[in-house]
Amino acid sequence: VVEVTGLKKSFGPLEVLKGIDLSVNRGDVVCIIGPSGSGKSTLLRCVNLLEEPTGGKIVVHGTELTDPDVDIDAARTKIGMVFQSFNLFSHLSVLNNLTVAQRKVLKRDAKQAQEVALRNLERVGLSDKVNAMPNQLSGGQQQRVAIARALSMDPDVMLFDEPTSALDPELVGDVLGVMRQLADEGMTMLVVTHEMQFAREVADRVLFMDGGYVVEEGPAEQVIGAPQHERTQSFLARVL
Ligand code: ATP
Ligand code: MG
Repeated sequence: VVEVTGLKKSFGPLEVLKGIDLSVNRGDVVCIIGPSGSGKSTLLRCVNLLEEPTGGKIVVHGTELTDPDVDIDAARTKIGMVFQSFNLFSHLSVLNNLTVAQRKVLKRDAKQAQEVALRNLERVGLSDKVNAMPNQLSGGQQQRVAIARALSMDPDVMLFDEPTSALDPELVGDVLGVMRQLADEGMTMLVVTHEMQFAREVADRVLFMDGGYVVEEGPAEQVIGAPQHERTQSFLARVL
């Protein structure tokens, strides 16, 4: 579903991504781990073109996003993104947060958008919050609404950038539980996370990034359980 080759990204003189190769197949859960500043967020942001790559190629679901002639907005609707900060529209109810893009971008009518929204709220266990405003919800609930909102666009792939790192510890489990359930349902997912337990249990593959490169890659058991590379070992020694 996602094919990244030789991806480079510089901000001025600072080269943040130095040639990243990455592929995520349908139904795969790929977790990206690595130290702060290694380029994890920049990589995800390139995959849905929130950042423009300096070099390399990104293909999502058969569409080459790095082709200058591509319809970025159309391609982007197939890519769901969930950030560390929940980015809900604070002036809109939960229901309207879930319907606005469906109506504007996918041109669904009100009834259809509402049905999809209710179905996805149920998936994240928040059917009772349909009329709440975002500020009436806990951080974990807001993040689950953000996940339901992304799902309502029927994405081919979901990108998660440290979705639990802004949450109080007791709220982390609910959000990881929803992500685990999505993985079980066969959703294709690319997840930047510091949750090593989650990566170990849910990821089909783990990538360790450092200094703008993928240093090590493989099954979770291998990369987290028995890392080969010295930099992976010292990173894991600090976080585990
Ligand atoms: P963290 O774990 O802290 O989230 P990260 O691996 O996600 O780190 P990035 O956010 O991708 O790291 O940042 C990688 C590098 O790129 C950092 O040195 C950062 O300062 C730099 N960077 C990111 N975005 C920009 C930008 N818009 N302009 C200039 N530099 C940037
Ligand atoms: Mg980041």
